[in-house]
Amino acid sequence: MASTRREVIRSLIGSTILASVIGLVHLLLRGRVLDKYPAVRRPYKKTPGLLRPPGALSEPDFLAACIRCYRCQDACEPGAIQFYTESNGKLFHTPYVDPSQAGCTLCNKCGPACPTDALLAFDDKADVDMGSVELREDLCLSYKAKDVRGKQELLMQLGKEPTEVDAVDERRGPCGECYMFCPLRNRAIKLEPGAFLAPIVFTDHCVGCGMCEEICRTVVRGEPAIRVVRTRTMETAA
Ligand code: SF4
Ligand code: SF4
Ligand code: SF4
Repeated sequence: MASTRREVIRSLIGSTILASVIGLVHLLLRGRVLDKYPAVRRPYKKTPGLLRPPGALSEPDFLAACIRCYRCQDACEPGAIQFYTESNGKLFHTPYVDPSQAGCTLCNKCGPACPTDALLAFDDKADVDMGSVELREDLCLSYKAKDVRGKQELLMQLGKEPTEVDAVDERRGPCGECYMFCPLRNRAIKLEPGAFLAPIVFTDHCVGCGMCEEICRTVVRGEPAIRVVRTRTMETAA
């Protein structure tokens, strides 16, 4: 009996040591992976200005009409609507969209939920005017893949092996996710013809919903290549 108890204790100690070693190895490996690919929700600097939910009146009228009731947030199923806090002065308790958290899907549910028409429902997504968008090709996986392929072809022509860094970049692209997520696909974003799925933005048709920024910051795991330009300011006239 005593020997059975000793065996159980020995086996428990063995399992604990094994679990600790596995945990340590896991932590080390995870650290190395995260070093290579930073966390998905890594914070990045936002563009200045305001991004109100779709259908918002001009800023002075919106501020006058909004009764800070939070009903638009309750109606927003994707969770895109956030609220300013005390630290934001007169914006306190008014809604905004933050694509670094969640873009607006243009589902058109917040307008009908607003009791004061500070937010208005829209008939066509293309009529919304939340903001605009800009694309940085130097951060875009598709443009990087295109660039890497060009460099690799050049290295091969020179009889040299592609570099390891180039191989890593090539594995991560092409992408084209912003195109897939854009509610105004083929109007606000099109893809360049060819295999690289490189996006081209049409700012005249972009409504600034931020869906492209939300997905881009996820796939690039850091500063997004495509991001909303907040064209509305506190002084935006009626
Ligand atoms: S539902 Fe309308 S009034 Fe209420 S917080 Fe939202 S925008 Fe303001
Ligand atoms: S989601 Fe970002 S990385 Fe991917 S194609 Fe669009 S801009 Fe480029
Ligand atoms: S380009 Fe981006 S911000 Fe503009 S409509 Fe498409 S998803 Fe929205």
